[in-house]
Amino acid sequence: METAINIATDVRSGKRTAESAVRESLDAIESGNEKLNALLGVFASAIEDAREIDRRIAAGEDVGVLAGVPIVMKDNMLVKGERCSAGSRILENYDAPYDATVTKRLRAAGAVLIGRANMDEFAMGSSTENSHYGPSRNPWDVSRVPGGSSGGSAVAVAAGFAPIALGSDTGGSIRQPAALCGIVGLKPTYGRVSRHGLMALSSSLDQIGPFTRTVEDAELVMSVMQGEDEMDATTAADGEGSKAERIEGAKGLRVGVPKEYFVDGMDENIKKSVLDAVAEFERAGAEIVPISLPTAEYALAAYYVIQPCEAASNLGRFDGIRFGYSSEGQTLLETYERSRGEGFGAETQRRIILGTFVSSAGYSDAFYKKASKVRTLIKRDFDEAFKRCDVIAAPTSPSLAWAIGEKFADPLSMYLSDIYTVSANLATIPAMSVPCGFVDGLPVGLQLMARPFDEASLYRAGKFYQSVTDHHLKTA
Ligand code: GLN
Repeated sequence: METAINIATDVRSGKRTAESAVRESLDAIESGNEKLNALLGVFASAIEDAREIDRRIAAGEDVGVLAGVPIVMKDNMLVKGERCSAGSRILENYDAPYDATVTKRLRAAGAVLIGRANMDEFAMGSSTENSHYGPSRNPWDVSRVPGGSSGGSAVAVAAGFAPIALGSDTGGSIRQPAALCGIVGLKPTYGRVSRHGLMALSSSLDQIGPFTRTVEDAELVMSVMQGEDEMDATTAADGEGSKAERIEGAKGLRVGVPKEYFVDGMDENIKKSVLDAVAEFERAGAEIVPISLPTAEYALAAYYVIQPCEAASNLGRFDGIRFGYSSEGQTLLETYERSRGEGFGAETQRRIILGTFVSSAGYSDAFYKKASKVRTLIKRDFDEAFKRCDVIAAPTSPSLAWAIGEKFADPLSMYLSDIYTVSANLATIPAMSVPCGFVDGLPVGLQLMARPFDEASLYRAGKFYQSVTDHHLKTA
């Protein structure tokens, strides 16, 4: 599969048609999806949408920087008229009544939306095994998980179904599957991309971002998606903080290496791959700065209080009456209980129970408020660290892609796989996973983090790294 930049360049110059690009994607899905279960549905309008792009180009119109680029959406982002189930049974019959802001912006830039990707139910999970529609499979080894929650999106790009897929990242759901599938995954700064039309999971943590093969492609699609939106009051205007714009290479870049992220007991091979990546920066003239993030060890605990709390609140709307799956009981309460009991899977119910408990009267001071204070301390750690460095380099995931079923019955070990990713969401900073090698034929991800609204430094560091390595060029 070509990069998005190449497809758009060729389509804009008339060298190829949008229709041919979309057909190539649909053919790849046709032959590969049965095995991988990456997509839950293909949009019937894709070919017609591509032809419309071709017609407009033939008429001399500028259709935008993503001309003819096939894009996969995560199943929690609204595309008007298309099924949108969030991987859940409770929305198995739900069709989106309007377009999400990202949907509109991608289309306005000439992209063609081709299908919706499998995911952990309502984006809770790290393996896609919590999907009501069965797990997605890792294209590097189909007996293994692709990561989650945006696992289907990651597989779609890694398997060559599309050059770009969107994911949402609340605690790592873009970066972790990107790492496990050997591609690029970016969680932008909180407020960078509008969530209007994204099914809310944890409103103070959620961000939409891209999966791509190259950092250039991620930057391109971000240029289209980002920026203020009156439908999401948390969004910020373009351009804020893009200090590193147009600086290239690693010379003079200050790369922070947090000692708390390289602890004894972590997978030695992952540690080595990540430290080798850091050495590439050093060789090219970057300054390597040892840093400390002392509150990091409490991040996971804080996340698994705040996240379920907000999720329990956001998921209250799925009551079996307003929309989605309904199972009628004798009383109103029984209808709620049956609809939610049958419509939600086990993990979703676990989080609702947990979130309701930690925010209930008498407990919220001890749990929710305390976790919020820890969150402030985590943010301060990063503020301190970024006085001394421009980007932070760390692993994305503590383990390689594991076997399907291995952690499914043990929620705590599943939660532990988020240990390196949740801090960026709690601190609202941008973070990106870039492929940095293979261990036993399975991909490893390098996580880069930067100051709020300084995605530019991530692009700079990521582009430099991809220019001196070829891990991202290998295909599953
Ligand atoms: N794995 C994390 C969780 O289960 C993160 C999910 C996400 O980022 N959506 O909550």
